[in-house]
Amino acid sequence: DQTVKIFKELDSRDIRILMGIEAGMQRHEWVPVEELMKFTGFTYEKLQFKLGKLMKNDLVLIRSAPYEGYQIYFPGYDVLAINTFVKRNTVSAIGDEIGVGKESIVHEAISEPDIGIGDPLSVVIKFHRQGMTSFKQVKRTREHLVDKEHFSWIYAARLAAQREYDVMQKIYPDVSVPRPIDHNRHAIVMELIEGNSLNKTKLLDPQYFLDEILEQIKTLYSFGIIHADLSEYNIFVNPKGVKIIDWPQYVTQDHPHADELLERDVNNVLNHFSRKYKIRRSSKSAIEDICGC
Ligand code: ATP
Ligand code: MN
Ligand code: MN
Ligand code: MN
Repeated sequence: DQTVKIFKELDSRDIRILMGIEAGMQRHEWVPVEELMKFTGFTYEKLQFKLGKLMKNDLVLIRSAPYEGYQIYFPGYDVLAINTFVKRNTVSAIGDEIGVGKESIVHEAISEPDIGIGDPLSVVIKFHRQGMTSFKQVKRTREHLVDKEHFSWIYAARLAAQREYDVMQKIYPDVSVPRPIDHNRHAIVMELIEGNSLNKTKLLDPQYFLDEILEQIKTLYSFGIIHADLSEYNIFVNPKGVKIIDWPQYVTQDHPHADELLERDVNNVLNHFSRKYKIRRSSKSAIEDICGC
């Protein structure tokens, strides 16, 4: 897999260059090569050689006029997050891509927080990709970039990861979500959920699982929170029960559309069980039970 292969091929000097570009991007749209020379202490030739490799793998982007400048790109940002997780010992090995959403790439990984004591823990790293599509459009008209647009993808992805990690920490373990383990930049480390999402599963006891899901929505609501993107794709099932994933778009009860979003979440679930298992439940009474109204 690309990210993993690239990460293995990088050395500490490549990481230093990426960190230099990341730091420089707080002040520059395109980080001048002179600034990178200062940050890394490398000669121009050395830097050119190293940057060539990073550019080939899309970790950084170059602009050569009006001055030679560089930007970090998503795979480069992934590398910096992985590097942090490895240093913190929350990730010790990275495996294949196991999921790709509209707004993220998810990799399998291994965490060994207590080397020699506990068993290695199977985890995933979710790399957020919010803002990438708009960034591509922005790239095409790069002459007209303003700072805000330029940073939007990094900020959007960081913010989404922060939001998702915060809410998971808040509701775990009362609400059945993957255990949140670590987060850095635009990436989250969390427990790997065994089993499959509802849409890929044929349940033998659908009534039981439907009750479980509605119970989770109710517990979640008691925290004042609504998932707001609940569907058969974001609910995992296994013999131990259900796990709800994919949280960055959650809203709180004071959100102007909170009621509609709760209703939509519940209806998505009920419609799935109605279509696939012919189970009919009243949406109105399910919602009444959830919000106690
Ligand atoms: P969407 O396009 O639905 O908004 P997303 O980009 O927000 O998706 P997620 O739904 O969180 O991303 O994750 C994408 C996929 O990765 C999931 O559908 C699932 O297959 C897999 N995945 C995510 N988290 C986990 C986990 N903790 N354990 C196992 N698989 C996971
Ligand atoms: Mn979604
Ligand atoms: Mn999803
Ligand atoms: Mn999502």
